[in-house]
Amino acid sequence: MKLHIGIAGAGFAGAVIARELAEAGRFRISLFDERPHVAGNCHTARDEETGVMVHQYGPHIFNTSREDVWEYVNKWGKFEPFVNRVKAHTERGVFSLPINLLTINQFFGKKLSPHEARDFVGALSDPTIREPKNFEEQALKFLGGEFYKNFFYGYTKKQWGVEPTNLPASILRRLPVRFNYDDNYYNQKYQGIPISGYTEIVKRILDHPAIEVRLGQRLEAERKRDFDHVFWSGPMDGFFKFRLGRLGYRTLAFERFVEAGDYQGNPVINYCEEEIPFTRISEHKHFAPWEKHELTVCFKEYSKLCGKTDTPYYPLRLTHDKDLLERYAGLAEKEEGVTFIGRLGTYRYLDMHVVISESLDLAQKCLSSPPAAWPRFSAHPLHSS
Ligand code: UDP
Repeated sequence: MKLHIGIAGAGFAGAVIARELAEAGRFRISLFDERPHVAGNCHTARDEETGVMVHQYGPHIFNTSREDVWEYVNKWGKFEPFVNRVKAHTERGVFSLPINLLTINQFFGKKLSPHEARDFVGALSDPTIREPKNFEEQALKFLGGEFYKNFFYGYTKKQWGVEPTNLPASILRRLPVRFNYDDNYYNQKYQGIPISGYTEIVKRILDHPAIEVRLGQRLEAERKRDFDHVFWSGPMDGFFKFRLGRLGYRTLAFERFVEAGDYQGNPVINYCEEEIPFTRISEHKHFAPWEKHELTVCFKEYSKLCGKTDTPYYPLRLTHDKDLLERYAGLAEKEEGVTFIGRLGTYRYLDMHVVISESLDLAQKCLSSPPAAWPRFSAHPLHSS
C-alpha cells in the first residue's frame, strides 16, 4: 500500500517535495492550498486589461548558482535570460543599484577607477564598528553615512517598519557592493524569468497521477492523523494555532495603475526617500521584454505589518520573534509525523532557489529513510535567517 502524504501549501516548497515523492512510486499525495491558485507568492497571471504577465505578489526573478536547481526549473518551463537592473530614486537623483562604480562616481561627482573607488568607500566607512551588530552598523561600516542615509535608511524603515538598528546585519548582506560597472542586482550564475510564468511551472510540477491538488482548501493541523506524514509549508505558528503568540511578518499592499506605453523605463525603481510612502514601483511588462504591449501595468508597493487576515511575506525575525520562534521550534521538534518546510514553515527570508534546493535535498533524505526518521525541518529555523 502506498503511504498517504498530506502537504499544506502549493508553493515551490510543497510542489517540489510532492513531485519528488510522487516519482518514487511509493506514495500518494494530497496537496492543499487555501488560495484558488498554485505557486504561492510566486503566482503569475495575465492582466486582463493590458495582457501583461503580472507577478501577483511582487516581482520574482529566478536566480541561482546551483546547476541542479537551474536544470530542475528548466525541466518544467522555458526561461528567458533576465538581468535585474534596479534604479534607486533618492533625494539627490536617480542612481544605479546595487551600489556599483557608476553609483559611486555619479553620487559623489567623481571619476574614480575601481581601485580608487575601493579606497574612497573604505575611507567613508565608520572605523569604530568592528563587528556590525545590526543593519545600520553593517551599512555604516561598509558604505558610510551618506550612502546609508540616501539609499538605505528610508527604504529599510518603510520596508521593515522599524529602525534599522533593530534589524539583523544579514538583511543588508543580501545586496552586493561592486567596484566595477556591473549593475546586475544578483551575483548568481543563472538568472531568468519563465516565459509562461511561475504558476504554469508549478502546475506542471504537480501534474502527476499520484498527486491530488485541492485548491481553496486548507489542510488543518488536526488532520495530521489522516496521513502517514505531513509536509507543512504554512506558517509554523499557524500549525500550533498560535498558542504561544504570533510570529511577526511584513505584508505588502499593491496599488495598481495602467498607463500607455512606457511608464518608468525600467522594471523596478526603488523609492528610498522616507517621506514617499511606497517602497518601489514595478512595471511588469519590463520583466518580459520579449513581449509587446501597448498598455503598461504598474504597482506601487507598500509594506506593512501583517495582520491576522493578510498574506504573510517577509518574516520579521526581530528579537521578540526569535524568542518565540525558539519556543515554536521546540514544539515542532516534538511533533511527530510533520516536516516544516519553506519560508513560512521555517520562518526564514528565503529566495525561490533556496526553497527549491532545500525541498530537493529533503526529498533525497526522505526517499532513503522510513517516515519515522524524516527530518522535522527542511532546514532548522534557528540556524539561518
Ligand atoms: N534596501 C534598501 N534600499 C534599496 C534596496 C534594498 O535599503 O534600495 C535594503 C532593504 O532593507 C531590503 C534589503 O536591503 O530589505 C535587501 O534588499 P533586497 O532587494 O534583497 O530585498 P527584497 O526586495 O528581496 O526584499
